[in-house]
Amino acid sequence: MNKGKKLYEGKAKIIYEGPEKGTAIQHFKDDATAFNNLKKSSVEGKGILNNRISEHILNNLNQIGIKTHLIKRLNMREQLVKIVEIIPVEFIVRNIATGSLTKKLGITDGTILSKPLIEYSYKNDDLGDPLIAKEHILEFNWATEEELDFIKENCLRINDFMQGMFRGVGIKLVDFKLEFGRINNEDKNEILLADEISPDTCRLWDVISEKKLDKDRFRKDLGNIIEAYQEVARRLGIMHEKANISEVQFGKPKAVNLKKK
Ligand code: 5GP
Repeated sequence: MNKGKKLYEGKAKIIYEGPEKGTAIQHFKDDATAFNNLKKSSVEGKGILNNRISEHILNNLNQIGIKTHLIKRLNMREQLVKIVEIIPVEFIVRNIATGSLTKKLGITDGTILSKPLIEYSYKNDDLGDPLIAKEHILEFNWATEEELDFIKENCLRINDFMQGMFRGVGIKLVDFKLEFGRINNEDKNEILLADEISPDTCRLWDVISEKKLDKDRFRKDLGNIIEAYQEVARRLGIMHEKANISEVQFGKPKAVNLKKK
C-alpha cells in the first residue's frame, strides 16, 4: 500500500497519510526513548513486535465492543488506522504501585492497589507529561465531562479484559497508558481507543519470578529487551513457541547503545 506524506513523527512511531480520506498508516520504529527523551537507543525488532502485540490486543478489545482506531495490520511494521483528533491526555491505569506513583508519593513499590487507579497526564513532551486533575481537563476543554465518563468506563473495561488475558499466560498487568481520540461520525463525535498497547506502554511482570517483560528493561538497563518482548508475544500465541528472532525476519538484537544527554 502506498504511503502518503508524513503527518507526524513521534518517539516510537511515524504517521503517514493513508490511501483514503480519514485514514493513516502507523509505522512502528525500533527507536526506544525514556525519561522524556534523555535516554535514546534503537532496539532492533522492537517495532515489529509492538506492531504485532498491539494489533493482537486491539483486535481482542474490538471483539468485546471497545471501538479502536485500528483498521488492519498491513505488514511487519505498519497498520492502517483511522485518523482521530487525539485528546491530549495520557490515561494511566494502575493495579500495582510502581514507577512514578511510588516516586511521587513514597508508596512502597509493589503495593497491590485495592482497586484500579486511573491517573491523567497532560500529553506534552516539553513539560514532561505532568500529572493533572480532571478539573484541568475540563477547564482547558481537552475533553468534556461526558467524554471523560465514557473514557474512564472504557479504561476499566480494558483493564479487566487485559488483566484476564495476561493472567492466563502467567503475566501480571501492573499498569499501562492509553490514549483516546475523536472522530466525527454522522455529525456525532465518537471516542476511539488510539495509539498502541504494547510492552512499550504497559508494565508486565512474570507472575512467579516478577521478571519485567516490558520497557522497564530499557529504562533500567536490565538488558534482553527483545527477548522479553518476544516472550510476551510467544505467551500471547502471536509467535510460535519455538520461533526465534531470525524467523520473524529481524536480525540478532544489537547491544543497546545508551546515549545520555
Ligand atoms: P509511570 O507514570 O509510572 O512512569 O508510567 C505508568 C505506565 O504508563 C507505565 O506502564 C508506562 O509504560 C506508561 N507510560 C506513561 N507515560 C508514558 C509515555 O509517555 N510513553 C509510554 N510509552 N508509556 C508511558
